[in-house]
Amino acid sequence: MSRIVGIDLGTTHSLVATVDSGIPLVIADARGRRLTPSVVHFPSAEAAPVVGHEANHVRVLKPAETVYSVKRFIGRRGPEMAEEEKAVTYPLHCAGGPVTIPVHGRDLLPEEISAEVLKKLKRDAEAYFGEPVARAVITVPAYFNDAQRSATKRAGERAGFVVERILNEPTAAALAYGLDKLREQSRIAVYDLGGGTFDLSILELDGGVFHVLATHGNTRLGGDDIDRRLMDFLAERVAAAGGPQLAGQAAEPALLSRLREASEQAKIRLSTETEVEIALPFITLDFSFRCTLTRAELENLSRDLIARTRTHCLRALADAKIEPKDLDQVILVGGQTRMPLVRKFAGDLFGCVESPDAAASGRPRLNTSQNPDEAVALGAAIQAEILSGGFKNVLLLDVTPLSLGIETFGGLMNVLIPRNSTIPIKAGEMFTTAADHQRSMLIHVLQGERERARDNWSLGRFTIEFEPAPRGMPRVGVQFEIDADGILHVLARDVKTGREKIVEIKSAVDVDDAAVRQMVEESVEHAFTDLAARRWVEAKLKAEQTLAATQKALAACAEEIETDYRRRIETAAREVEKVLAAENAESGAGDLKSLQAALAALDEITRPLADLLMNKAAETLLRRRGLVA
Ligand code: ADP
Ligand code: MG
Repeated sequence: MSRIVGIDLGTTHSLVATVDSGIPLVIADARGRRLTPSVVHFPSAEAAPVVGHEANHVRVLKPAETVYSVKRFIGRRGPEMAEEEKAVTYPLHCAGGPVTIPVHGRDLLPEEISAEVLKKLKRDAEAYFGEPVARAVITVPAYFNDAQRSATKRAGERAGFVVERILNEPTAAALAYGLDKLREQSRIAVYDLGGGTFDLSILELDGGVFHVLATHGNTRLGGDDIDRRLMDFLAERVAAAGGPQLAGQAAEPALLSRLREASEQAKIRLSTETEVEIALPFITLDFSFRCTLTRAELENLSRDLIARTRTHCLRALADAKIEPKDLDQVILVGGQTRMPLVRKFAGDLFGCVESPDAAASGRPRLNTSQNPDEAVALGAAIQAEILSGGFKNVLLLDVTPLSLGIETFGGLMNVLIPRNSTIPIKAGEMFTTAADHQRSMLIHVLQGERERARDNWSLGRFTIEFEPAPRGMPRVGVQFEIDADGILHVLARDVKTGREKIVEIKSAVDVDDAAVRQMVEESVEHAFTDLAARRWVEAKLKAEQTLAATQKALAACAEEIETDYRRRIETAAREVEKVLAAENAESGAGDLKSLQAALAALDEITRPLADLLMNKAAETLLRRRGLVA
């Protein structure tokens, strides 16, 4: 099997990671850079797009042809976009359909732009391994809906990847922090402050699987806002020192670009230094600028922005119905959380203790042991390694994509494990026979959302033998178990003899997403006809049972009943048979109303026969016990 890489396709930066000899690591590009700006520049209609750092440099110079933050638009439709979300320096088409970006006369979908970023990461990974890389796990924010996830997946496919999984970013981060090894029932908050977005997710680890309990955030809050504050601040200082206008409409793009880069650089350096020197030589031919900036000054400029994350955190806690003290850990994700003020803010907000033995204090631990801008990519790589079988005995962050069950009487699907159950999981049910003296039972394993067995996918079949007995007597326990590797074990056991059979089915969890989507769509589309079919099958089973019982009773009471009564019963039985015979072979359904009416009539007419049979049985019993002659 070929290798799978993990990719963090971020709003501002993207990364590709892998697990090498058991160690997760970010793959650097040829120049040793591990973060690729998620920026794509289109020099002309013909030229190949420029991706990453080079594109970022021309972002301010060529605003209309340089696309950044396209993650905001992926999988989204024009009408659902709020006005402030559309504020970017390149044009956007937000008509009825999907949002598109017109560049050099072509209307590009956001996923086509993301695909360019992914292609660059793919090339970097291939250069690192010295061989083609064709499979990937790609992360998305926990709040992404189906359309956004599907579009992200398509971006991966356009880039030439088989997208093995779309993984939630907070879950990936938790994996990178090794939190899957926490005790069962742990709760974790993932505080993710990136370049342009903030989100807080609350995860619960339960039975080795992460669930996102709640997520809340702001898609227009991040490090970029701090950069802008600093740019304005520096522009004022430049003006005060007699320099040119750098801010606002009058600013020259090239200068603005330099100011933006200088601001971000200063901000980044102030995370480790307490004071930095900012130099902007030759802003004009005769004007150079130089100043020092302290960490305290930067903090004053950004404090209120950081404080805005507070309400989102509180909302997520409220949605998850937990308090900060219920959390075991708070982890920080996103480059901007390297800023000491952000760390302090998050720690204070959740009442954290910054030590590994926080548990003793009853307060959550603020865990900053991983690089916040790499954690998501590393987690994706860990998930990729799990999928390719490299890491054994670790949790699989997975749910069953479709329901699993077996075929029962009348060709119906009996669900044992419903769709979207988290795995590993175990479920069982008791089954019996439909006919007398059956010697075996066919266990037909099915997957799908439809009511009838034949509309679902057949995963396998096997038979279990038992001693012949009257219908309904044999008891066969069937158990489905999906293990952490996503393999379904089907066990069938004859309760009486304890004889059992176990069959392994590998394809139960790794199902192609498109096929899953189609199955779910079809189940919705056919919901009514499926339900009608199930009702028919159930009524038919009942009718067949009643007919068999009637025949038995007629034979048993042959001497006691009059010919006329017998005829009337037979006519009523024939009515039922007629409706059954009229079943449409293709749809497998018939006239339910007529069947119900015919069956009711038969029930009504056989009531005296049933009484007679009861009396006879009672008499036989009494006679056997010697109570009557
Ligand atoms: P995203 O997930 O949105 O792509 P990232 O996690 O890459 O974003 O975060 C990018 C943001 O983090 C940028 O605003 C960047 O300036 C900021 N950042 C990166 N490193 C540091 C640092 N050392 N100190 C402060 N901010 C930083
Ligand atoms: Mg991110």
